[in-house]
Amino acid sequence: MNCPYPFDPATVAPRLLAWYGTHGRDLPWRHTRDPYRIWLSEIMLQQTTVTAVIPYYQRFLDAFPDIAALAAAPPARVIELWAGLGYYSRARNLQRAAQLVIARHNGRFPETVAELAALPGIGRSTAGAIVAIAFDRPAPILDGNVRRVLVRLFAVADDPRSAMAERQLWGWATALTAQDRPHDYAQAIMDLGATLCTPSAPGCSACPLAELCQARRLGLERQLPRVRTRKAVPVRRQVAVLVERGGACLARPRPAEGFLGGLWELPAADLRQDEPPLAAAARLVGELGLAGQPTMAGQLKHAYSHFTLELALVRMIVAAGDRAAEGAWCWLPPAQLLVTPLHGAHRKALACFLAIAPAGGDD
Ligand code: SF4
Repeated sequence: MNCPYPFDPATVAPRLLAWYGTHGRDLPWRHTRDPYRIWLSEIMLQQTTVTAVIPYYQRFLDAFPDIAALAAAPPARVIELWAGLGYYSRARNLQRAAQLVIARHNGRFPETVAELAALPGIGRSTAGAIVAIAFDRPAPILDGNVRRVLVRLFAVADDPRSAMAERQLWGWATALTAQDRPHDYAQAIMDLGATLCTPSAPGCSACPLAELCQARRLGLERQLPRVRTRKAVPVRRQVAVLVERGGACLARPRPAEGFLGGLWELPAADLRQDEPPLAAAARLVGELGLAGQPTMAGQLKHAYSHFTLELALVRMIVAAGDRAAEGAWCWLPPAQLLVTPLHGAHRKALACFLAIAPAGGDD
């Protein structure tokens, strides 16, 4: 056969589909063809594991059972149900896209890759997954799992994120996509990447593509994909303060737009050069028109994609008579704070604060 492939691409789908028949995963979003539910699962699964997603998926659907409910929901409620999943722009885009489907498509979910990819938060691969899984039409996908399978199958030795590799991978993804049973094929290749062709321990001996796999033939299955050298991530040092007064703690919602938009936060500030956390806490609380004696309560680290946060934790009890801080600040009892959608670093901080000495009751 004279073709640019090291094997006949038409042989991939039948092998995958046969394997999927016995090894495919049973997941909550696999019991539906509703494009709204499939879209929601695809967005939640970006950068998040299946185990973490399942309870969120179910809670989200209980609150917003269809696209009209999501489009009409208060944005704060959407963020509240997303709190803990991270990458909050996904939640904001989800609601914007729902509103556009209502406005532009009369509430009917678009059925083509081009129309779907025009919605906020839906890239080419997610659009392909929705088309294949919800509408059972052939469409290539190239999510993280599929990308790893293809890099190994074709033994891509270069940086798989380079523009040339990207073009090649999309070409292969298109050529391998089954014309028959595209719904099952999309889930099969995703499952192969998630369960067998895993990042550090590929289970090649059980793989339905082992005979075709070029990385395995070359003994490179554990070396590929080539790991990108990551740039050093900057460190940001902050203090977060649990300000307590009369059994309530100070917190506020962040602005709806921007980093961690719509999530709640405790009072926090960057540490100035060589500034001790207790001094920074007193400065911060003073700026809020409050005063008290700060005490250290610990420290923690929290990793974001573009920086690492080193957070010093300080508690401060202020007098019941102190004037309330201005702006969006609210005094919340600890039980309410625990169910408020604090952003991830401050949820960790709150857990530390409450483990040290439950807030509340001090006056
Ligand atoms: S043979 Fe191994 S490396 Fe190749 S696709 Fe299968 S699991 Fe991945």
